[in-house]
Amino acid sequence: MRSHYCGALSTSNIDETVTLCGWVDRRRDHGGVIFLDMRDRQGVVQVVFDPDTEEHFQRADRVRSEYVLKITGRVRARGEGTVNPAMATGQIEVLGKELEILNAAATPPFQLDEHTAVGEEVRLRYRYMDLRRHEMQERLALRSKITTAVRNFLDAEGFLDIETPILTRATPEGARDYLVPSRTHPGQFFALPQSPQLFKQLLMVAGFDRYYQIAKCFRDEDLRADRQPEFTQIDIETSFMDEAGIMDIAERMVRGLFKSALDVDLPEFPSMPYAEAMERFGSDKPDLRIDMELVSVDDLMQQVDFKVFRGPADDPAGRVAALRVPGGASISRKEIDDYTSYVAVFGAKGLAWVKVNDLAAGVEGLQSPILKFMPDAVVLEMMQRLGAADGDIIFFGADKTRVVNDALGALRLKVAEDQGLVREGWAPLWVVDFPMFEEDSDGSWTPLHHPFTAPSCSAEEMQASPGTALSRAYDMVLNGTELGGGSVRIHQRDMQEAVFRALEISDEEASEKFGFLLQALQYGAPPHGGLAFGLDRLIMLMTGSPSIRDVIAFPKTQTAACLMTDAPGNVSAQQLRELNIRLRQQAENKGEQG
Ligand code: ASP
Repeated sequence: MRSHYCGALSTSNIDETVTLCGWVDRRRDHGGVIFLDMRDRQGVVQVVFDPDTEEHFQRADRVRSEYVLKITGRVRARGEGTVNPAMATGQIEVLGKELEILNAAATPPFQLDEHTAVGEEVRLRYRYMDLRRHEMQERLALRSKITTAVRNFLDAEGFLDIETPILTRATPEGARDYLVPSRTHPGQFFALPQSPQLFKQLLMVAGFDRYYQIAKCFRDEDLRADRQPEFTQIDIETSFMDEAGIMDIAERMVRGLFKSALDVDLPEFPSMPYAEAMERFGSDKPDLRIDMELVSVDDLMQQVDFKVFRGPADDPAGRVAALRVPGGASISRKEIDDYTSYVAVFGAKGLAWVKVNDLAAGVEGLQSPILKFMPDAVVLEMMQRLGAADGDIIFFGADKTRVVNDALGALRLKVAEDQGLVREGWAPLWVVDFPMFEEDSDGSWTPLHHPFTAPSCSAEEMQASPGTALSRAYDMVLNGTELGGGSVRIHQRDMQEAVFRALEISDEEASEKFGFLLQALQYGAPPHGGLAFGLDRLIMLMTGSPSIRDVIAFPKTQTAACLMTDAPGNVSAQQLRELNIRLRQQAENKGEQG
């Protein structure tokens, strides 16, 4: 139908007759001349109709925003004074000769350029309109460019794209499963994959050696900011490769994506042990664009009587740490109160602080509600350790180590953002040497990654001390966001069983849920490992989008619903009967068996 995209026209097309198809972005009537801004996925161009072309002029007069048109006309240079430098096609316009209305449009639910004012709910309800916006078109175009680059890179490295099932058994990644009832097996359910983890491992047992997939994953998680119940991973697995080899491939891939899509050369990827990341940043995904660090002062606080600090300092499971904010002494009491509420969410019972007004005046030059509880010598030694300078504020956390790390780790990000202390640019790293397990409040262990991750010690050592056993897992972190992670896997049945035992998964349960894996490990499973990247998050970072929903064509809301299709929805009684399902609520409402 068309000869050119609207947004692709330039001065090189002057005097050409072109046919364009697209939407009416704007229509203006200027004293007998009609201006139509025509839009397609490439951009916008101005089309002018004058009364010389009477029939078409009449039609142009009738069109409204978002009508779909086909127009034919001649490209010409804009007259002096009418050039629009803000518009990519602002040097030219099209003198319209013919206009065909391909479809009319109802009045749009919102003006596309006023999307921010209408709120996300309306945008999601009319997503097909929202997606017409240039910004959204660009993001999804970049997404497509990136997945193409991923495929090209992995293909060149010898990876095979292999699909794995969506209707399957639970693949644990720490979330709740989405379940699908089986009609043919009454009372039984499929689980949607939380990741292709087990299948990709089985593909290694099968000898495929290098696998990848751009895979949908499903996790029914509680409402957490900026998560999607279904999301996409770049999923990778390799055989006969150790962590160094896998990390090298992953790093080259990400480097290549940044270069090709954004023309950015990412800096070095340092490797940081998990313990160091927690100690220095209170986080396993530190944002290295921020220079502030947590500094432990437990040894000093063991010398004070102040119970709030002394208790955690003496407790092997406790921590007292300080966060120095350069130039933060100007932070007001009100802001400190706000930060106190902010850290309370992470379990912190308070937020002690010291303002450094005049260090040369010693303790006299410090302002704080807590210093009176500490000997001067300790205070001054602490100031020295923290590298305090006039004009700083120092915040403290004293509690169980996890609370201190979570609270000060989050505060570090928040204060840096508020005070403009986040450097521009990209700061990648690898976090390595994760613990195998995390202790739950009831004393049981859960895997920090998934239960198929290999420990870096023997099974005996792991069993003797699950709390200190490290794993062969690695996470790639960029600007404080976990881009991806993976591990070398367990490839021997004995070890896999030992891990299940450490997790208190009984032999019966293990064989019921993972019998197929345990069996496969007996039939010549090669050493293998891999990782997965969160594609949505990667694109979000690369496009600088405020939300993950902005880089997904049809995302769900925070309550895991699709406002446009109104999913999830009701199903008919007939469908339920076929599935052998009776809804409790319905039965209760009707006082009968539905
Ligand atoms: N399956 C893991 C995940 O979804 C990634 C991996 O270990 O490869 O996080």
